Formats: sequence, structure tokens, C-alpha cells
Amino acid sequence: MNQFRADLERAPRQVTGYVAGSFVPTGSTGIDVIDPATGRIVAILNESTPDDVDRAVGAARKAFETGAWRSSSVAERQTALMAIHDAILENVDELAALETINTGLPLKQTRTIHITRAAQNFRFFSEFINQDGGDVYTQEKGYMSLVTYDPIGVCALIGPWNMPLGLTAMKIAGALAFGNTCVVKPSEITPLTLARLFQIIDERGILPEGVLNLVNGRGQVTGDAISSHPDIDMISFTGGTETGARILKALAPGIKGGAMELGGKSASIVFADADIERALDGVMLGSFMNNGQMCLAGSRLFVERKVADPFIEQFVARTRALRIGDPLLEATEIGPMINQAQMDRVMRYVDSGSGEGAQLLAGGRRHGESNDGLYIEPTIMQAPSNSLAICQEEIFAPFATLQIFDDEEDVIARANDSAFGLVGYVWSQNLERAMRSAARLRTGTVMVNSPIMRDLRTGFGGVKQSGLGREGAKGSRAMFTEMKSTIIALEAPALPRMGIAD
Ligand code: NDP
Repeated sequence: MNQFRADLERAPRQVTGYVAGSFVPTGSTGIDVIDPATGRIVAILNESTPDDVDRAVGAARKAFETGAWRSSSVAERQTALMAIHDAILENVDELAALETINTGLPLKQTRTIHITRAAQNFRFFSEFINQDGGDVYTQEKGYMSLVTYDPIGVCALIGPWNMPLGLTAMKIAGALAFGNTCVVKPSEITPLTLARLFQIIDERGILPEGVLNLVNGRGQVTGDAISSHPDIDMISFTGGTETGARILKALAPGIKGGAMELGGKSASIVFADADIERALDGVMLGSFMNNGQMCLAGSRLFVERKVADPFIEQFVARTRALRIGDPLLEATEIGPMINQAQMDRVMRYVDSGSGEGAQLLAGGRRHGESNDGLYIEPTIMQAPSNSLAICQEEIFAPFATLQIFDDEEDVIARANDSAFGLVGYVWSQNLERAMRSAARLRTGTVMVNSPIMRDLRTGFGGVKQSGLGREGAKGSRAMFTEMKSTIIALEAPALPRMGIAD
């Protein structure tokens, strides 16, 4: 794997957009794509200009209006989706290494979780459309009403840097499954795996021309050109809350929809009657998996006072024992932060937490020498109140906050005291308490005695500032289709005949 990295450093990849079935070198701005573990350039990204975005949207529009994709049979779409699924799995090693080199996520996680899941998304939607259908209502005598789900048109799919292939693959699979055409934009920080997937799809001739298009570049340039383009029909976006709000504003004049998967600050509540070992395993994953850079991180931790001392002792010991280092090494559990700006941000939160009275229990410092990559020590801060910035703002790093509580009423109120509402984690072996808490948490998802888990049949998404809409099964169908009602009279209707005298 290190040879793969060395090859990329010697000959950085040129990443271009893909429009109407061709890779198109565009614009004049080249953006360096960096391996955060080494700080070295591994690719040069060719930024798509507003004109390039216009061409990509035009290609997607043409493919949608005149092409065969929207009217293809379920079996044809299933074949294409499964071909993409197979192609990802056949290239899992290369895609996982690229993802790790571009994001700093440990290779063990990119190979066994992210890239594999990217493939599963295509299998899932291929199976879903085979079972899915509309509805028929016949309760009015002489009438039949049909509800069908039409493709929405040209979907713009914009993804974040933290799990680039997996999260955007979910959007691509869903949009294609329901007969749409797409313009995809990954984060300019992490474009490599999506660009490679487009190459693989192109080499295998899986999709008709113009159905799937790729543009690359910064949010303020390429992103803005997409969200303000008059000819897109919707945007499915995953990213930060501020960007989501900006996109919704750009969509408002056209009365267009945006599905928004946004930030989180999810509470993880450990009651004294929890299976503490299991809860600790879950809290470790919830705080530190993916270098802690997860929208659904359960890193705002609440522990009941009766078990706080032994829990904190073990939590701190395990956090200090996490293996930090080169993400390409099998043993690594925590890789580097994505870039210097993110590293600086984390350090500012350590300072702001200390300034507001939080106690540093672990980490809080840079790990290694400054030329070793952007590593930080996984951090735990115990907060005296939920109002601290470290408890209210998304840090997006291996950084957990910890608060102690005495009763259920108080902890639910504190857990809900957040602008976000993505996930809530409840650890309790008392079924009634667990279910009561789950019902009262204002979040899109609750996990009870469960670490991070995803069932694609369920909808995933947030309430409050964590988003709009749900991804998965019927949630994705609602996102990528227009529900249409067709009412059919089965016999001459018995209606008043206006304009004819009795
Ligand atoms: P950003 O909001 O910064 O960026 C997300 C994407 O939007 C990037 O491709 C970015 O491009 C692009 N973008 C930026 N500005 C615009 C614009 N004006 N118009 C259109 N597109 C634009 O998020 P991050 O990439 O920093 O991702 C981290 C965030 O994503 C966190 O808040 C995290 O919680 C959230 N997230 C949510 C998930 C969920 O399912 N709810 C899952 C994973 C992450 P570029 O980067 O090139 O500027």
C-alpha cells in the first residue's frame, strides 16, 4: 500500500469532470489534493467552472428528456445498479487505499466498511425497486385512483469530505434507481474515489451517455453554480448546516426541493443500569470511529453519577490506548485530521472548553512531530454544563465531551438542549426506561443499546438543524420521485351536466 502512495506522490493523478460520457479537462484552476498523513500532493483537481456545470446539467437534462433511462424497465435498471455494485467490489482494494490516502480514515475501516457499503447501496436499491410499487384506491364507486412515483428529473448530488464514496454512492444509487439523471459534486478536498468510480463505470459502459455526470471544485465556485442553476430539479446534499441553509436559499426562488443531511451533536446516554462494557464499546466507536469525523458521532456523552467513576476510568484508559498513526497500517485506529484548518479548529475547542471550565481528561494535544502528519490525541473533556460551546457545536474530530447526570428527566432535557437532532444513543437494560427515553429524544434516529448501525430499509436523517428528508428505501423514494395521482373513471360518471337544462 505504501508503494501505491509513493506512486501517487511521484505522479499525482489528474482529476477531471465527466460530462455526457467523456472526461473533460476544464477551467484553468488546478487544486492540489493532499494526503493528510504526509502533507504530499497526490492529485491535481481540475476545477469545473459555472460553464462546465452548465454543460453537465445540460447533458443530464438531455439524457433525462430524450434518453431511455427514465423509461427503462426495472430489470434494466437493476442490471446497471448491480454492475456498479460488482465493479466496486472488484476494485475494493484500490478504492479503499485511495479513500484512506485522501481522507486519512484507517484502511481497515475504508476497506471493510465504507467501500463495501458503497457497493451495498447499489445492491439495496436494485432490490428495492424490484419490490416497490405504487398504490391503488377504489373506494369511490366507478373510479380508480392510482398513485405512482415518477422520476423527479435532474438531481444534483453534493457530498462531504468525511466519507466521500459511501455517502455519495447512497445518493447516486437512489437517484438512478428511480430513473433520474445526475450531476455529482464531491468535496474538492476528497474527490479521488468518486472520480475513480466514474472511470470504472465508463470503462465498463454501464450507463447511457449523460445519465451520470461529474463536476469538481470548491463550494463557492462549482457548488454555487449547481445550486443556483435553473435547470436542476432538486439537490440531495450532505454536509454542514450552514452550507445546507445556503443551498436551500438558492433553491427557494425556483420552489425546488432539497434533501439535507446535515450536522449533528448526538447525545449518548449511559444509565447506571446499562451493560457497562457494551456501553463502553459503543461509546468508543461513537466517539472515535472514522477519526471521530462522523455526522452521527455520539460524542456528547452523559453518564449517570452512580457509575461515573468506573466508567470514566475505563473510558479514559481506552482512549489513551487508541493506536494513532499512518492510516494505511492495519493496526491504526486513529488517522490524521483532514487538514490544518480542521486541526486548528479542534485545538481552539480545547482552549474554549478549558476557558469555560471544562476539565481535560485525555488528549487535547497534537500527536507526534509537526512533520508527521496532522495527528491529534483523542480528546475527552468533562463539561460542567451543556451550554459550553464544546457541547453545543459540532467539532467533527476524535473529541468527546462528558457530563454527569442524576436523573432521567434532567438528562433527557439536556440531551434535547441542542440545535441539532440527528441521532440519540441510549444505554440501559431497563426496557421501559430505554423506550421512554427513545420516545422523548428529538432526533431522526435513536439507537438503543446499539453502537452505530445502519439498516438501509429505515430512513436516516435529522430533525431541527440536522436536516430535512430521510435517506434509505421509502425516504429516498420521497426524495428522488414526484408522487403522481391518476384518477380514472371506470364508467360514465354520474355528475351534474352543467349547461344542459333539466
Ligand atoms: P460542507 O458543508 O463544507 O461541504 C459539503 C459539500 O458542499 C462539499 O462538496 C462542498 O464543497 C459543497 N459546498 C460548499 N459550499 C457550497 C455551496 N454554496 N453550494 C453547493 N455546494 C457547496 O461540509 P463538509 O464537507 O465539511 O462535511 C462535514 C459536514 O457534513 C459536517 O457538518 C457533518 O456533520 C456533515 N455530514 C452529515 C451527514 C448526515 O448524514 N447528516 C453525514 C456526513 C457528514 P467543497 O468542500 O469543495 O467546498
